[in-house]
Amino acid sequence: MQQPDPRAWRVAVVGSGPSAFYTAEALFKSGQAASVDLYDRLPVPFGLVCFGVAPDHQNIKAVTRVYDRIAGNPGFRFFGNVTIGRDLQVADLQACYHQIVFAFGCESGQPLGVPGDDLRGVHSATEFVGWYNGHPDHAQRSYDLQHATRAVVVGNGNVAIDVARILLADPDELAKTDIAEHALAALRESRVREVVLLGRRGPAQAAFSPKEIEEIAALPGVDVLVEPAEAALDPLSAAWLAKDAPRSAQRNVKFLQERAAAGPTGRSKRLRCRFLLAPASLCGEAGRLRAVRAQRMELAADADGTPRPKPRDQFEELPADLVFAAIGYRGVPLPGVPFEPKKGIVPNQDGRVLDRPGGAVLRGLYAAGWCKRGPTGLIGTNSACAKATVELMKQDHAAGALLAPVRADAAELLRARGVDAVGWADWQRLDAWQLAEGQRLGKVRHKPASADALLRTIHELRAARP
Ligand code: NAP
Repeated sequence: MQQPDPRAWRVAVVGSGPSAFYTAEALFKSGQAASVDLYDRLPVPFGLVCFGVAPDHQNIKAVTRVYDRIAGNPGFRFFGNVTIGRDLQVADLQACYHQIVFAFGCESGQPLGVPGDDLRGVHSATEFVGWYNGHPDHAQRSYDLQHATRAVVVGNGNVAIDVARILLADPDELAKTDIAEHALAALRESRVREVVLLGRRGPAQAAFSPKEIEEIAALPGVDVLVEPAEAALDPLSAAWLAKDAPRSAQRNVKFLQERAAAGPTGRSKRLRCRFLLAPASLCGEAGRLRAVRAQRMELAADADGTPRPKPRDQFEELPADLVFAAIGYRGVPLPGVPFEPKKGIVPNQDGRVLDRPGGAVLRGLYAAGWCKRGPTGLIGTNSACAKATVELMKQDHAAGALLAPVRADAAELLRARGVDAVGWADWQRLDAWQLAEGQRLGKVRHKPASADALLRTIHELRAARP
């Protein structure tokens, strides 16, 4: 591993997902000699691009080529398999760098928080997504797809759509992607024939992208069904759609109304989109999920005119073998870093970290990406977000408002502590091996799904290097 330039502006970035790479890119483009170290607790980089983006969306995953180019900058280093708060403390980073950027995202899922959400068969979409993507934290999970015919996915965002699509897709098609082997095996045994997508608001307020819902309708053997009464817009939504709504909402409504008019075509699998229904409780038998008791909602304008769900005294029971809560991600606090529990983010003022929500700016500490602004936006949104943070870092750098590092190199600290850090060259060898193994197996990439297996392969490749 190369030594950092002692004269350079030294920055640590905690995380190695999109916002971390865009932060590094903006620093390298700043016109100053910058040395940027990315830390990840996993032995591999790319965060949600590797473990969140669905395996059948390789076109989105291809953004890593941009990150590879950023990593080619001589000032770039990667420290994988290093947990901040265990292997290194924030205080250690403060002793080694001029500035620290937290870009560790939002790692957990929002719980449903309704009675019965602890029943067997009730799952977090975040964990399911990690499981089918081979995330080491989730590889050991199991999903009883073999005994399930109907799954309810709560939420109307792109994650809900990803989960629905993976449940309904043809496993032979998924086999060509980089889906985790354990997930493919379970999906091959799956008896799920119907996925119900539950939106607490109407079709006009669905958060999914039109392309995503349309993609499900294009899956062979899958019908997308919408109840005509739920596809019809209430006056509030109709007015909102005509005035304030983005074009994507108009396209979603058009598509959903067309599906409602078309009705079933007798295909063997179904995505049933239900609107204005939210889970009130989950019903079980002998500890196992049996049904979702859904409460009917109506829309009422809030102070700024946005249609919000308002419960009505009307309920419907939807039989279900599995429930996936896809109602958003949530940040997990990092030891030594302030946390805003209500929003699940690092408290910050436009990217400068605060000692508490609404508190004082902490010198030299910044946030970028989801842990700065919450779990919203597409991958590219993180580029503008990281650039905005780096602008402030540049201002503080110019003003000399920096940390005062007393140590030369964090790599020495890691070596002294016996931490088995994974460098960028290690990752490049693993990447090439994963692609070659994938090709041998007839798929895009082969991803071992445990941190131990990843590290073992990294060590073998390290030992075998010329
Ligand atoms: P999201 O877009 O914020 O959607 C969350 C959904 O959950 C919304 O429909 C929301 O409804 C609903 N919800 C929240 N609380 C609820 C509750 N208590 N009961 C019922 N429903 C509830 O979040 P996401 O799907 O997790 O996605 C996160 C971000 O990643 C998004 O920006 C998304 O676009 C992006 N992403 C993109 C892709 C892609 O481009 N292919 C794939 C995956 C994720 P309300 O609107 O009523 O609040």
